[in-house]
Amino acid sequence: MSILEKLTSKDAIALEEKHGAHNYHPLPVVLNKGEGVYVWDVEGKKYFDFLSAYSAVNQGHCHPKIVNAMVDQAKTLTLTSRAFYNDVLGSYEKYVTETFHYDKLLPMNTGAEAVETALKLCRKWAYEKKGIAENQANIIVCENNFHGRTTTIISFSNDPVARQNFGPFTDGFIKIEYDNLEALEKVLAENSNVAGFLVEPIQGEAGVYVPSEGYLAGAKALCEEYGVLFIADEVQTGIARTGKLLATCGNCSCADKHCSGTPEVKPDILILGKALSGGAYPVSAVLANDAIMNVIRPGNHGSTFGGNPVAAKVGVAALEVVKDEALAQNAYDLGELFREELNKFIPSCSVVNAVRGKGLLNAILINDTEDSSTAWDICMALKENGLLAKPTHGNIIRFAPPLVMNKEQLLDCVSIIKKTLQQFDK
Ligand SMILES: *Cc1c(COP(=O)(O)O)cnc(C)c1O
Repeated sequence: MSILEKLTSKDAIALEEKHGAHNYHPLPVVLNKGEGVYVWDVEGKKYFDFLSAYSAVNQGHCHPKIVNAMVDQAKTLTLTSRAFYNDVLGSYEKYVTETFHYDKLLPMNTGAEAVETALKLCRKWAYEKKGIAENQANIIVCENNFHGRTTTIISFSNDPVARQNFGPFTDGFIKIEYDNLEALEKVLAENSNVAGFLVEPIQGEAGVYVPSEGYLAGAKALCEEYGVLFIADEVQTGIARTGKLLATCGNCSCADKHCSGTPEVKPDILILGKALSGGAYPVSAVLANDAIMNVIRPGNHGSTFGGNPVAAKVGVAALEVVKDEALAQNAYDLGELFREELNKFIPSCSVVNAVRGKGLLNAILINDTEDSSTAWDICMALKENGLLAKPTHGNIIRFAPPLVMNKEQLLDCVSIIKKTLQQFDK
């Protein structure tokens, strides 16, 4: 009946190859089912998902509470646009702003849209509140950042593959080295037209680069000193991934359902996406206090789907799951265990140099040249052994399983990873 019925992996890949744009290079595995920490391919083989859709599926695949919220709302009302009110958005905004301690939320759909929103908000604030002259505002960004794929966002990327032949680019960004407070201070001291500093608390795409202890707090203090907005892109690091509700949270033992998200560093503008919906639906958000968010007035910004009732219901359910199941604490505990186990193993294995990360956002660094295919080959072998992961820049493999994993499952995964790496030992 349907052309989508009973495809083999080979058929499905061939269809995408022929009819789809080639903007990704997926691992050759075709999935048709997911539950919790597992996914299955069309031939019925079961895998541990060790990517979680780039940390969107923190709550696990097809979490029943999230799916039920989505289905119930989908049967009732899906979209009104913001031309009219709906009876869900306000409650969602209240719940999310109370969870993260901000006055207001601006709803969007994807991470890139939320980053764009934050950039626009920051610029408008700079002109109207800080008094920067028209069109002169600069936003400081970091080298090797990843914030999405729009024309403006790639304007300040330094990934040639993401940029080449997509110009002309958007002006108004100053790039500095990540994890370098002196570089930040120098730019702030030399420029009176800086509106904001946009930063990932851990650079995920760049290879799970964890900055030095105190970097974020130091950067925030500098931003305050110079009257510049500190903008945290927590699209990948947020929602319990790094062992705390946010990577910018303090070191409360961010234990449990009572986690207050106490900030170590409170961003002036917080950007969320990915796991804000548990991977069920595109939901992103920008949070800020009134002194900033109130520069946005009717007509200044918008999105047809942003703030739709399905997204709002899904967003609440997804955050409730994080709290009810104490996923931040679980990510913290399992992350410690994961790095401990791999650190015991690494000295005996020539193919991997190090493991690094926080919570369940980790990476291993493969002992080979940037342009070698070793990381890819290891991911292919991991797949054969029942675990799905993907190389990120060069010779780095990111490991980011759903946070609903238990200890036994994590140790199974560690065994698979060790066994696979041993196959590559020279
Ligand atoms: C994934 C990601 C984005 C972009 O999100 P999309 O939903 O893919 O547009 C932005 N920032 C960070 C840090 C991300 O990891």
